[in-house]
Amino acid sequence: MSTSAPALATPEMIARYEPVIGLEVHAQLATATKIFCGCPTSFGAPPNSNVCPVCLGLPGALPVLNRVAVDLAVKAGLALNCTIRVRSRFARKNYFYPDLPKGYQISQYDEPFAEHGWVDIVVAGEPRRIGVTRVHMEDDAGKSIHEGFRDSDLYSYVDLNRSGTPLIEIVSEPDMRSSQEAYAYMTEVKQVLEFLEVSSCDMEKGHLRCDANVSVRLKGAEKLGTKAEVKNLNSFRFMKEALDYEIARQVALIESGGRVEQETRLYDPDLGETVGMRSKESAHDYRYFPEPDLMPLAIDEDRLGELRASLPELPSRLRARFVAEYGLREYDAEVLTQSRATSAYFETAARISGDPKTTANWVMGDLMGALKADGKEIGQSPVGAGHLGELVKLIGAGALSGKLAKQIFPKMYATGDAPAAIVEREGLAQISDTGALEKVIDDVLAANPKQVEQYRGGKTTVINFLVGQVMKQTRGQANVGVVTELLKTKLG
Ligand code: ADP
Ligand code: ZN
Ligand code: MG
Repeated sequence: MSTSAPALATPEMIARYEPVIGLEVHAQLATATKIFCGCPTSFGAPPNSNVCPVCLGLPGALPVLNRVAVDLAVKAGLALNCTIRVRSRFARKNYFYPDLPKGYQISQYDEPFAEHGWVDIVVAGEPRRIGVTRVHMEDDAGKSIHEGFRDSDLYSYVDLNRSGTPLIEIVSEPDMRSSQEAYAYMTEVKQVLEFLEVSSCDMEKGHLRCDANVSVRLKGAEKLGTKAEVKNLNSFRFMKEALDYEIARQVALIESGGRVEQETRLYDPDLGETVGMRSKESAHDYRYFPEPDLMPLAIDEDRLGELRASLPELPSRLRARFVAEYGLREYDAEVLTQSRATSAYFETAARISGDPKTTANWVMGDLMGALKADGKEIGQSPVGAGHLGELVKLIGAGALSGKLAKQIFPKMYATGDAPAAIVEREGLAQISDTGALEKVIDDVLAANPKQVEQYRGGKTTVINFLVGQVMKQTRGQANVGVVTELLKTKLG
């Protein structure tokens, strides 16, 4: 076990090595009840209140598989491009831990329900396909609480509410070559699970966590280096920091003539370092064997077909469609497909406005800005997608200038009113009526004889000044196009 932190490798040293990363992502399935009993999975209940003989691991209690958990898991497997096994099997993974009352975890071992999938990512413009080795189902353990009690210096407490919560574990191939790729992979997996509504992926509640396996090898080397596994990373930032630290640690170790030990490590965010926890156990330590209390899991073709048909349009498809169908830029398509709610909002607004590009700018600019400042999600937006679409439509129709629309939007946000109602109430409509504008223009020309002379003398750019004067007189409500045309006629 390492006692003091080793010196880290310099960027020049690191540049000679290639990091190899494989992730094991655990996601909590969004079921109302646990995987093998009817106890609720709700978060924040008083300790040990959501428990029964099954999830307490009492002798003789028998598990019954939650059908909804299977459906969600299979959807995830399909969306991750996996082959779904017609028949899969649960297995006991035996180990001792105070928050694991059964003395084993029910997982899947040699026959996971899904395997051979992939996830496509793009990092720095480079498309990469990351293999998904397998996806399996398992139950979560409880939680040991070491702090917060009067006698916490003497005792630890155990809360078994989480025991038996359904999880899927998504195991990747060692296909990632940088912490950025790991970040992109994790982002894509999270987004897919959220789109499927398979998991809330709420990292603060521990609904999404990952173990990061990392090794380094000299660039060009065939053979994989010995890996370390950094356990239980519960934020994207920590995962990236832990990987970067671990890469620098391993390179330094090798460069100084040492070698990487196969071990399990923990990331300490306060120190910004990974710390050795235990030497890595291997499969035989767990004494895996088929779970005798559960039938093999059979998923027939009909059910698979139904689940496949129920999949929503996934983020990657949606992004491609937004680019192809609406002519959006890649980046904009990415922002607008962050969540299902965002993409649905955009599409509704764009349909009503008839102008997807301008709508995209409003959603990403004014709307997202206002929501962010207000700490709200798009689903809680006081400006409905329909109203935003109407605003953009009014601009397109010439009824509002962009400038006026910018004044109206905050009022829509504050009141939830339709843009037309605000325009009406505040008398903000754009003036395109030539009769009304001509009078203002005549006044402006009379008041600025010098500029009129300059224009006629060939300095035509001075027209901008005159347009500005008209805009000022009309408090920004004049239609710039109409004003310019009228001015040209009058001056020429
Ligand atoms: P273990 O038997 O230690 O659990 P597995 O072969 O099951 O190892 O792999 C666990 C995870 O570690 C997978 O995500 C895999 O891609 C990754 N992995 C395996 N070997 C390496 C390696 N040499 N370097 C980095 N990651 C690796
Ligand atoms: Zn229970
Ligand atoms: Mg393994």
